[in-house]
Amino acid sequence: MTRIIDGKAIAAAVGDRVREDVAALAAAGLTPVLAVVVATDDPGATWYVRAIGAAARRLGIGCHVHDLGPAASAAAITGLLAELSSDGRVHGIICQTPLPPAVPPGLAAQQIAPIKDVDGANPQSLGMLAAGMPGAFPTATAAAVAEILDHEGAVLEGRRAVVVGRSTVVGKPTALLLLARNATVTICHSRTEDLAGVCREADILVEAAGRPKLIGAAHVRPGALVIDVGISSVGGTTGGVAGDVDTGTVTGIAAAVTPVPGGVGPVTTMQLMRHTADAARDLAG
Ligand code: NAP
Repeated sequence: MTRIIDGKAIAAAVGDRVREDVAALAAAGLTPVLAVVVATDDPGATWYVRAIGAAARRLGIGCHVHDLGPAASAAAITGLLAELSSDGRVHGIICQTPLPPAVPPGLAAQQIAPIKDVDGANPQSLGMLAAGMPGAFPTATAAAVAEILDHEGAVLEGRRAVVVGRSTVVGKPTALLLLARNATVTICHSRTEDLAGVCREADILVEAAGRPKLIGAAHVRPGALVIDVGISSVGGTTGGVAGDVDTGTVTGIAAAVTPVPGGVGPVTTMQLMRHTADAARDLAG
């Protein structure tokens, strides 16, 4: 039987730990503060920023949203990020995507000081992660995948892990976290030959292509743990979302699978909170 992993319950458990950390910091006179820079009116981004604000409020973390509007210039965005990076009252910074088309990707993120880069957006953070250096945060999504595997008690050492997707937001940092836990990691992408065959080698399969139903029965080894990071809008005006895994077809094959929604998503938001509390502690220490 395939178990459906309850991401909301895992997120709640992470939230409980973060709340305790935040209370300890508050007792020492420190309230962690997350700054969220927004330069888009994308509905998905608006929804996520609202979710971040609500999570921060529940945990006692300050959340300041700086909405520059979808026509913001590169100079306005980079200037604000640089200012927040040197502002002692701010501990974590994220710059919500998508950015206006005229703003080169990566340029904005490079302005975020790595110690405050709680969503691992600065290429320097990814480099530090790759080099095994302390002091850098992985993206909240990669951290959420690792948290779910830890919560599941997954043994990674020596096991085969396959990550589908090679973005700097999900695929690469997730692969690095699995490698750091001594898994043998393969990264797949749109040019991978025989995707199903490669995926079938996985004890742990992490799916982050953003292609609904890409992964079915032919891709899953019996007993595999399947983490579905993909979120795609489906259903037009009814506004549904779907993951990359055709869950119905892998039921009875996979040992466990994360649902979409209610899997990786809620854990990601909580990891962002955890990173913000950690950044506040690091900056104070
Ligand atoms: P992305 O930048 O578009 O990257 C997608 C990756 O998947 C690319 O590496 C691409 O290969 C690969 N890919 C696309 N089609 C493929 C196929 N048919 N076979 C094999 N590989 C394929 O997307 P992303 O930002 O990494 O996000 C991936 C998914 O995760 C999206 O659905 C996104 O919405 C979701 N997401 C979820 C969370 C969360 O917290 N739950 C957070 C972030 C993102 P190439 O490199 O060759 O193009």
